[in-house]
Amino acid sequence: MNHDARTNATPALRIIPREQHVISRKNISKAALRVLYRLNEAGYQAYLVGGAVRDLLLGGHPKDFDVATNATPDEVKKLFRNSRLIGRRFRLAHVVYGPEIIEVATFRGTGEEEGEGDRHIVDGRIVRDNVWGSIEEDAIRRDFRVNALYYDISDFSVRDYVGGMQDVQDRVLHLIGDPETRYREDPVRMLRAVRLAAKLNFRIDAAAAAPFDELGPLLADAAPARLFDESLKLFLSGHGLKSFHMLEQTGLLKFMFPATARALKRGDKALRALIEQGLANTDARVAEGKSVTPAFLFAVLLWGEVRDLAHTWITKGMEPVAAWERAATHVIGEQCQRVAIPRRFTLTMEEIWGMQPRFEQVQRKRVFRLMTHPRFRAAFDFLLLRAAESPAVRELGAWWQHAQQLPHETLAAALSGTASGPAGESAAPAAKPRKRRRRKPSSKAGNKSDPA
Ligand code: ATP
Ligand code: MG
Repeated sequence: MNHDARTNATPALRIIPREQHVISRKNISKAALRVLYRLNEAGYQAYLVGGAVRDLLLGGHPKDFDVATNATPDEVKKLFRNSRLIGRRFRLAHVVYGPEIIEVATFRGTGEEEGEGDRHIVDGRIVRDNVWGSIEEDAIRRDFRVNALYYDISDFSVRDYVGGMQDVQDRVLHLIGDPETRYREDPVRMLRAVRLAAKLNFRIDAAAAAPFDELGPLLADAAPARLFDESLKLFLSGHGLKSFHMLEQTGLLKFMFPATARALKRGDKALRALIEQGLANTDARVAEGKSVTPAFLFAVLLWGEVRDLAHTWITKGMEPVAAWERAATHVIGEQCQRVAIPRRFTLTMEEIWGMQPRFEQVQRKRVFRLMTHPRFRAAFDFLLLRAAESPAVRELGAWWQHAQQLPHETLAAALSGTASGPAGESAAPAAKPRKRRRRKPSSKAGNKSDPA
């Protein structure tokens, strides 16, 4: 579908009265309502805007509520003692109620752009910094039509300047304005399109998707710290698997995770299985309200390239531990030029990867040492994800799974080879993985040629 006249047209306001939409105050946080009412009572316009309005219309439960107003940040500051001004380029007020922060932004004019796409205005930055605008201008500088809806606290209506309401109904993402211009201003909008489509189960309008191929490379200029934040939202918000598939389909994956795209392009089925299962597990954890860690996520995404590099170098004669370390450093180094993964996470990734070859060493001392390693759990979960690599890896996973369930004494006995009698049979790990120097395994299973 081509973008129609609405896209570029001067905003034509449509007001949807309370009885014609589903947004109810009981689904808006108390804190957001207080901010809206207080602004309104002081004579300012006050609207709920952006993702919250969109999600409320879809029957969702927004996690954050953004407010737009014609009050300047200083005026907001005066009105709320519990507020602070943030941002250098774009000043905003944060109004704080306990753990909840309501972001209050003054309507912005169109003379400014968001993101990193406008470096040329460096000199003009201070002048343009706080160009306040009208609500119409504020609406058209937003990215997607569905993100430019305003819930008016004065009469509970929704104000729609760009046709966002129709898009909510049609479940489609249209960019506001000319797609190419809008992506050039801020290439991260391409990722936002994918993320929102995945999260909301929307399709991306053809005109909004058309420039991905040509403009995707502009993501290389996006701030790596911002891409890190964006990757967390893509992969750790409960729709990671869908985001991943969409990034692949749209061709954007290679601009964000070049090593991942390269490894998948080599047709590595086991890697695909690992990534898909890893993301599916993460989505399930998010759905259950459990914690998820960026380190594990990035370890999953980058594993293929790390493993292949390490193997290549080992084949060329490099000492294994050094090869694994160097491969990790190399892949992380390349990735961080795109997506700035903080050090505390890359350290954990290196540990998770570095422990993989150690799972193959099942001498008694090493087993117990590995089990007490602070990253054992993560590294073991990772080993299980690798099951599709080979029957031997799957065996290894099963062995360690079983080993962990054994009482210390039983496992110790099994590892010393003294528990092979009937007494030990039920308790000891059924199979011993191959030992390091490819010694003939003492029991039947665990080597590549003889999967159980
Ligand atoms: P989420 O559900 O992930 O919070 P969101 O749409 O609320 O989605 P935010 O990053 O919270 O995303 O942004 C809030 C609003 O700010 C958006 O709805 C949109 O109106 C505007 N916005 C955010 N990023 C951009 C951008 N890159 N370009 C233009 N407008 C943007
Ligand atoms: Mg939001």
